Amino acid sequence: MKMDIIIKNGNIIDGSGSKPYKSDIAIRNDKIFDINHYNETDIEAEFIIDANNLYVCPGFIDVHSHADVALLNDGQHASGIMQGITTEIIAPDGLTLAPLSKNNYELYKWYLSGILGTPKNEYDMSSLKKARLNYDNKTACNVAMFAGHGPIRLETLGMKDIPLVGKQLDNAKSLLSECFEEGAVGFSTGLSYYPNSYSDSNEICELMKIAKKYDKPMSIHLRNHNTDRAFHNGGILEAIEIAKRTETKLHIEHYKPDFNQSINDVLDPVDQAKKEGVDITLETYPYPVGSSFPQAFFPGYFHEGGPEKMLEKLKDKEERKTLISKMIETHYGNPSNNVWTHINSEKNKYLEGMLFDEVAEMWNISVEEMVCKVMYEESLGCGFRGAPPRNIKTWRQVEKNVMELLSRPDYMIGSDAIPTGGLPHPRAFGCFPRVLGRLRRRYNFPIEQVVQRITENPAQRFNLHRRGKIIKDNFADIVILDKDHLNDRSTFEDPNVHPEGIYWVIVNGKIAVKNEKTTGILSGKAIP
Ligand SMILES: [Zn+2]
Repeated sequence: MKMDIIIKNGNIIDGSGSKPYKSDIAIRNDKIFDINHYNETDIEAEFIIDANNLYVCPGFIDVHSHADVALLNDGQHASGIMQGITTEIIAPDGLTLAPLSKNNYELYKWYLSGILGTPKNEYDMSSLKKARLNYDNKTACNVAMFAGHGPIRLETLGMKDIPLVGKQLDNAKSLLSECFEEGAVGFSTGLSYYPNSYSDSNEICELMKIAKKYDKPMSIHLRNHNTDRAFHNGGILEAIEIAKRTETKLHIEHYKPDFNQSINDVLDPVDQAKKEGVDITLETYPYPVGSSFPQAFFPGYFHEGGPEKMLEKLKDKEERKTLISKMIETHYGNPSNNVWTHINSEKNKYLEGMLFDEVAEMWNISVEEMVCKVMYEESLGCGFRGAPPRNIKTWRQVEKNVMELLSRPDYMIGSDAIPTGGLPHPRAFGCFPRVLGRLRRRYNFPIEQVVQRITENPAQRFNLHRRGKIIKDNFADIVILDKDHLNDRSTFEDPNVHPEGIYWVIVNGKIAVKNEKTTGILSGKAIP
């Protein structure tokens, strides 16, 4: 029987965490047909890849990607596929564009433009099923989706500052059921974003009763907004309490110690809860600072009514004053020491790459005033990242922590990539190779262990059917790399650079990356 592809002589890391072994892999249609040693005479193939001295891994799975719109605008998605990411799980933090009726779609598309960018074309996002079809066979990687808290709340109550109860809560629950029926791999929420943060813990418990029925996890960005509405004042304890009360699976987004914390500080409550039987997994990314959009600095009242109302508040001098005083009072993060990554207009494009403090000084206004001015002038189409620490010792500590976290069997990688704007956070281009190349070598972790965390682990957690492992009859999602020369090349100063050392990427049996170049083949599926 003729094969489509044979990968010869590779060192196979199967994704289970077992030691690498040498063999050939035969691929036929979209599946791994067999793993065996072949002689040239045994078997014929359309295409033979010589993987001598190279490592052959299952395709990487990114459990936290904000590429919802980036993938629609450019299905090639070079920033991800060149890292070896064969499956993107989009719609984390509850921030996504489905399921939304026409008006709410327009509203949320605008509201999220600072983080997701803006779709170039029209899309039907009225249900999760329709949204998923927008990606099916149109992207280089597979796409799985969460059911996002944001759209579910918008559809039931709009941008209103009250927790869901009664009839509206019932509507939200049936909408969530529908999302699970239509293929959502979990429920996601981000409790420093809106309208998600208008919720209280009870609302989330009620929604998680539906997730329990479908045996789906909650992927949560821990609460720091409206903490008075939460069990134990939000944060990790709220998330654990919700999982405990509803007996559901919990997945904690971007969870690692801050500069002033130790690993034990953050993991003690997690390990305590696990001892009590709570099912918890976690994710992190290997950089010292994050990235977001400026809406996250503002309290609930600012977001009420959506973008149009928000711009009115920003425009009016008195309102802006009130807004700034509330922003300082609630202190949802410090706007100083950040850098603009994404600016919509040509007029202000030059701000990309500039420090907030610098822009404020240039305009002779406070940082808070500067943020308001840019948001107003950009009509919310702007985003930022943190400025990385100048002390290399701090970097090293963060990186060491990340690798230590990844040695735990309950961790995986979520890049939290925001592939939008001219100077994005480097995680959008370098996250996976950074962990698997540079940091693995520096801290001397076994490659098969790191690979397991980014393949089998996420596939199991989010129930991605026949993915995450190199075994017979699984889908042929495969990365072939040189483990000693694998490096991220994306930096804070020059982020839009692809990694080196990832030679081949195969998605559903088709070659997406050949000799470190994209082929233009878009064989990604909407999964699971
Ligand atoms: Zn995120």
